Amino acid sequence: MENRVTINLLNREELDPKLYDIVCELRDKFKIKGWLYVKIKDEDRTCPSDFCGGVIPSPSIDFGSRGKRIRDYVKCENELIIKRRDLEKLNPNKQPDELKVIIAHECSHILNKDQLVWGAASFLIFIGFICLVSLFYLIASLNAFPLPITLLVAIVVFIKYILIAGKRYYRFRRETETRCDRDAVTITQNVDAFIRALKIYRDEPTNVKNTLWMRAKRRWYGFFGGTHNPISERIKYAESLMQKKEN
Ligand SMILES: [Zn+2]
Repeated sequence: MENRVTINLLNREELDPKLYDIVCELRDKFKIKGWLYVKIKDEDRTCPSDFCGGVIPSPSIDFGSRGKRIRDYVKCENELIIKRRDLEKLNPNKQPDELKVIIAHECSHILNKDQLVWGAASFLIFIGFICLVSLFYLIASLNAFPLPITLLVAIVVFIKYILIAGKRYYRFRRETETRCDRDAVTITQNVDAFIRALKIYRDEPTNVKNTLWMRAKRRWYGFFGGTHNPISERIKYAESLMQKKEN
């Protein structure tokens, strides 16, 4: 398979050579196979993520290929999404080290196919939910217990299920983020740049719209502990990595 980087397919003329070099270097260090699409996105004030790295599956139906495995029919593309405004915060020419360590974090997501794993975990939670709905539907239709009691038990069980599954799912996501932070520091060997990059993010105001939907989303994530650990904790973790190295 070709091992190439394609940056900003639609706006090639806006390609930044320094950014291209950073992505190429990290792709080689992480040994990411196949194409790596880098998409520079314009303003999206509804998405709180500044950088996104993942593997996007896209079905490619080609019966002529005589493939026997699912992966013969589903193409998985490595994608790195960067918002244009974030290249102002972490400019490839002014803060190349800080940008590199953040892109390294995203490369760890790509290499480990985290988005696919999270998708599979969400799907399992959804299947569990469907099983519970079927179970209570069956109990209600058998008239084994009075309906109000069945409904009450169902509500309690569903709330418990959402709490337990949600807590585990978000804890798993935070553990993944911690692994990406560790990989980013290990690959770049630049813990100072990582801490500086996190501080830039902590101190720069975000321009994500404060809509009712975004507030609800933040509360939902916050309730389960968030998808990422707080920046102060991530900085502490990075410092602990540095201390380990010195010992
Ligand atoms: Zn991440």
